[in-house]
Amino acid sequence: MANSSVLGYPRIGAEREWKRAIEAHWTGKLGEEELHRSLREIRLAHLRKLQAKGIDLIPVGDFSYYDHMLDTAAMFGIVPERFGYEGGSVPLSVYYAMARGTHSAAACEMTKWFNTNYHYIVPELGGTNPALTGNRPLRAYLEAKEELGIEGKPVIVGPLTFLKLSKGYEAAETDLWLDRLLPLYVQVLTELSGAGAKWVQIDEPILVTKLDEIDLTRLRRIFGTFSQAVPGLKLMLQTYFDSVEKYEEIARLPVAGIGLDLARGFGRAGNLAALREHGFPADKSLGAGIVNGRGIWRSDLEEGLALIEELKSIVPDDRLIVQTSCSLLHVPVSAARETKLPPELKQALAFADEKLDEVAYLARGGEGGEAARASSAAALEALRQSPARQRLDVRQAVEAMAAKEPKRGAPFAERRKLQAERFGLPLLPTTTIGSFPQSAEVRRARRLWRNGEWPQERYDAYIREQIDHWVALQEEIGLDVLVHGEFERTDMVEFFGEKLDGFAFTQFGWVQSYGSRCVKPPIIYGDVAYREAMTVKETVYAQSRTKRPVKGMLTGPVTILNWSFVRDDLSREQVAQQLAFALRQEVEALERAGIGMIQVDEPAVREGLPLKPAEHAGYLKRAVDAFRQTTCTTADRTQIHTHMCYCEFHDMIESIEAMDADVISIESSRSHGEMLSSFETHAYPLGIGLGVYDIHSPRVPSVEEMASQIERALTVLDPSLFWINPDCGLKTRGQEETVAALRNMAEAARRARERF
Ligand code: GLN
Ligand code: ZN
Repeated sequence: MANSSVLGYPRIGAEREWKRAIEAHWTGKLGEEELHRSLREIRLAHLRKLQAKGIDLIPVGDFSYYDHMLDTAAMFGIVPERFGYEGGSVPLSVYYAMARGTHSAAACEMTKWFNTNYHYIVPELGGTNPALTGNRPLRAYLEAKEELGIEGKPVIVGPLTFLKLSKGYEAAETDLWLDRLLPLYVQVLTELSGAGAKWVQIDEPILVTKLDEIDLTRLRRIFGTFSQAVPGLKLMLQTYFDSVEKYEEIARLPVAGIGLDLARGFGRAGNLAALREHGFPADKSLGAGIVNGRGIWRSDLEEGLALIEELKSIVPDDRLIVQTSCSLLHVPVSAARETKLPPELKQALAFADEKLDEVAYLARGGEGGEAARASSAAALEALRQSPARQRLDVRQAVEAMAAKEPKRGAPFAERRKLQAERFGLPLLPTTTIGSFPQSAEVRRARRLWRNGEWPQERYDAYIREQIDHWVALQEEIGLDVLVHGEFERTDMVEFFGEKLDGFAFTQFGWVQSYGSRCVKPPIIYGDVAYREAMTVKETVYAQSRTKRPVKGMLTGPVTILNWSFVRDDLSREQVAQQLAFALRQEVEALERAGIGMIQVDEPAVREGLPLKPAEHAGYLKRAVDAFRQTTCTTADRTQIHTHMCYCEFHDMIESIEAMDADVISIESSRSHGEMLSSFETHAYPLGIGLGVYDIHSPRVPSVEEMASQIERALTVLDPSLFWINPDCGLKTRGQEETVAALRNMAEAARRARERF
């Protein structure tokens, strides 16, 4: 019998009680002592659950008050100067100030954890003086042992991953920082060993991205140091999200175990190939990440058992640990409470708790669980057979679409002339990204309508009033291209998912996104198909209220894909094509209804980049194709816009250009210089608007500020192709600041025009 383990468990709780406690603390309703008490209860309840499910190696220390990278930084006293920290244990107020900022100190940067939708707080090393401020993993280990008699497996972010994900130092100083951190890690491990810990999980997901000789040398140094300092402690070098790079070298590191991602569609192909070719070292345990920690589908237990059989020919039973492929942080807590899903879908789901059963079952070798295996097979078969997954009409239409090269009728140079004649816009036209402030009143109206308290007519009339109000405001401000404001949309993916076939929505499927913020991603479980117009009513209404062009507004196929849980029986490319085909029909419907400009937002293209650089080109090609499939059937005189958030586009400019959108708007105000330098070497040949003001803050930027952003942009970009717009949608802002900022933006545009 193999041992079982998981790499981490969701923090948020089945009822999101974790979120509620933390937010109550922030608003002052829950004191610090009470917060500690509440979170301790949640933590212990999770441990009890893992114990009851029969998990042998239970992770401890993966629980957090916000984020595990922030925890690690705080443990090492890595607190930027601006937070006024003076050494010793980091007060909770400082911890949350780093995460959220205060009126006097900006929050630390937050960014995506590898290619997941989880965001971590980026440690800032520069100017700090690392010292151990408390042994977190040790506290967690002792708590589990003393309270519940659990022999836990402490989890720590490994030194290489920690350094690589931190900022505030030069690459040349990496080893210097390693010198500073290593003794602290050694102290943590020594104390754990002294307290009786057997296994420690050291997370090094960076090993799946790319690994050069210098980093391999660093790894040898790190694990060489650890194995000498704490020879009795078993270290599980844990990787996840993809297959490990340089397998043979990694396999030789002096650790007691190596954890590999063996989930289909993630690390399985690469890791299994390496195991088959090179075998596995006789002196180590293999952490076999068979149960997919990122997907929401039940495991095929039959296939899992077969894989374990094969692994047993490579590693003996007693050195095989069956586990999840990554932390369960990335899936919702439990599927058991869902009551509104189609039965064949619900039965086929495995969220965190269901995955615990699968891990335990597979580790037992399926012993005593014929029924479990049969029910899993039956559930997967029922989903396979679901008519929602076999839409011949969709399959044929999508195939026909994919067989043709997705290309607009005429090249941009010609489209541009036709569009200029049609719209007669001034030089440096002004516009916005789509959404206007979603006031409490707007949200309330939507809620009343959803609950059935407002009939459709009343809700429609309310939305029309909002559109009237904002169309009038936009005209009065003097914007050139207007939008309807997106008042009918809660979320840019959910809105479309609810109107397309093939999607399902859970009631409780929350996943932590950043800090206390949770998201409930839609599930794409069937063939995606267009039912009826989704945005035409509101867009056409807005257009009827003004002579200026109104842009239609859609979410693009890649963004919908990247922000959903996706079926795994089709390739992501196939699902993207189905989405593209459905959205194309909406684009065509808008065009037929007389809308001359259509924006297809793709803010999530960048974050879907695969972890391995070698796979970037293929991914980008597929993303570009999906966008073009969505937009290519429009007339040359129809102007296609797109929008992207985030700032690191330097390595993507060619793909952005290949999308062939007539106009792109990009968030850039916080990284203006960087963004511009990408265009110095690459003359962008299509319409482009670089955001001239940051929409994440309520601050109203002055005319001068924006004018100078515009002026700088025009030193590298062609004025006849340049647009003026904010960074992103304005739905989180208030009306007053929005109007004031847009007035200043329009004035800045007027001044810029005078100079040409
Ligand atoms: N059109 C969307 C909006 O304005 C775009 C949002 C986004 O880029 N994330 O809200
Ligand atoms: Zn945006």
